[in-house]
Amino acid sequence: MNSNRRTFVIHSTLGASALICAGAVRAQAAATAPAMVQATDAQAQALGYVADATKVDKAKFARYAAGQSCTNCAVYQGKAADAAGPCPLFPGKQVASKGWCSAWAKKA
Ligand code: SF4
Repeated sequence: MNSNRRTFVIHSTLGASALICAGAVRAQAAATAPAMVQATDAQAQALGYVADATKVDKAKFARYAAGQSCTNCAVYQGKAADAAGPCPLFPGKQVASKGWCSAWAKKA
């Protein structure tokens, strides 16, 4: 094997290995994403959390107003474009950006 060919084979192998590693890291990150809060969770029930703010029991939570959702709550830690994100009231889990709970507070 001449030098150029050896160099090509080495670089190709390293490149393929890097791609495989990057894919594995991405797959692991997806696999370890925090679980979503379920409306049936004890804390969720205590706070009246729902994954879809339009489904809030308005008779039970009179302070709910249309337009309120996790994405515009002061404590929501996800980005505006995220479908879900962390909330300190539900440690280790994610809430839906369109969700709502009775602890909602207007984002400043
Ligand atoms: S505190 Fe805010 S971000 Fe957390 S679940 Fe309730 S409404 Fe959503």
